[in-house]
Amino acid sequence: MKIKTAEFVISNTNVTKCPKERLPEYAFIGRSNVGKSSLINMLMERKDLAKISGKPGKTQLINHFKINNEWFLVDLPGYGYAKVSKKKRAKFQSFIENYFREREQLVCTFVLVDSRHDPQKIDLEFMQFLGENRIPFGIVFTKADKLGSSKLNKQITSYKKKLLNYWESLPMTFITSSSSGFGRTEFLKFIEEVNEDVASDFK
Ligand code: GDP
Repeated sequence: MKIKTAEFVISNTNVTKCPKERLPEYAFIGRSNVGKSSLINMLMERKDLAKISGKPGKTQLINHFKINNEWFLVDLPGYGYAKVSKKKRAKFQSFIENYFREREQLVCTFVLVDSRHDPQKIDLEFMQFLGENRIPFGIVFTKADKLGSSKLNKQITSYKKKLLNYWESLPMTFITSSSSGFGRTEFLKFIEEVNEDVASDFK
């Protein structure tokens, strides 16, 4: 998929205020600092479409971007940042949960995880939440350039094996590096194919 246009539409904390336009929507979420802003910028070939987080936990908003006038990319707040107060975290969770429960045009969620790490409790809990709410998701391994290729393969194989302790089958997985652009073509091809698959539901 060639990215012709990528426009910021709106930021808010309320699913009822998200854009009304019926377009297939893809949400990006993960722990703070996982590389979400960098990945979005890399995919869109824009330097600062998503803000590279100076202060993790600061950008607690649902951010909609319209891509090629065909689909929405949604940048969701990073979760699991220790310095956000408990009260704020609870509020964050409820508006995020509302978003997932109510946003009908959401076709796929991408859960970002750092290629170097084993499955983290907070990510597993979040995937479980998605599963319970029947929200399709894929896992995006970020910062792949930080490991050499054999270590990377080993780590990802082990991650998948551990996931099978919780899931009967594995979700789609993508390996990416925002520094090198690795994984970009395959990732965008996936979105393009899903857009084609769901086109009749969005007429
Ligand atoms: P966010 O909080 O999830 O939006 O994460 P950011 O995109 O702000 O990235 C967090 C840090 O990781 C920044 O210092 C980035 O430069 C770095 N980073 C993000 N993606 C990559 C990557 O693919 N490779 C490397 N080497 N560093 C990355």
